[in-house]
Amino acid sequence: MTQIQKNLAAIKAQLPDGVELVAVSKFHPVEALQQAYDAGQRVFGESRAQELVVKFRQMPADTCFHFVGHLQRNKVRAVVPCVGMIESVDSVALLRLIDQEAARAGRSVDVLLEVHVATEAAKTGFSVDELMRNAAAGELSGFDNVRICGLMAMASFTDNMDQVAQEFDKAHEAFLRLKKGIFHDHPEFCSLSMGMTDDWPVAVKHGSTMVRIGTAIFGMRQ
Ligand SMILES: *Cc1c(COP(=O)(O)O)cnc(C)c1O
Repeated sequence: MTQIQKNLAAIKAQLPDGVELVAVSKFHPVEALQQAYDAGQRVFGESRAQELVVKFRQMPADTCFHFVGHLQRNKVRAVVPCVGMIESVDSVALLRLIDQEAARAGRSVDVLLEVHVATEAAKTGFSVDELMRNAAAGELSGFDNVRICGLMAMASFTDNMDQVAQEFDKAHEAFLRLKKGIFHDHPEFCSLSMGMTDDWPVAVKHGSTMVRIGTAIFGMRQ
């Protein structure tokens, strides 16, 4: 077993059933992804359009890529054919554009809405209020080529795990409110993506169904 395969096995052994693992492979070479793939990992996270497209072409056909970075509008067309999911939808305009481009590509794209719960202003995403307002105004429904599968959130970059837990709780509450109120417990609205290398055990305790782990699997990024 390679180091990457050992790291992967160690994380999988700790992840509860029902929590999906996205192996965040951004900035790592395709050989690193291939090692994880050979150990059974199929879902990978990438944050740059060009890098995603290149890796998509190189990896086996049953590899599933999640886009997790900030998606610029002019990159949507390139990204849509290569992704199983876009986790970082941070505006209604982007949601509409993905729907259009997915229609053009003759496919349907799964997305998560990114909700901003961290204290850092730099992090992107809808505020909880914006999300609820958009939902109430019908802005989150009626798409033919995107399926809204849940929410994605990032906690503040801090050692204070109480604060991190509170932020995850906030995202979890928003998720449950939308699930009941707008998506009426529709089975496809089922994913709450939160938790990274430094905080995923906290995220899992606070409602996460999908963790995005990079460094703990692949090591430090260049
Ligand atoms: C890079 C990244 C991750 C992985 O972070 P690690 O700390 O390396 O596990 C997860 N989510 C998003 C959105 C990222 O950009």
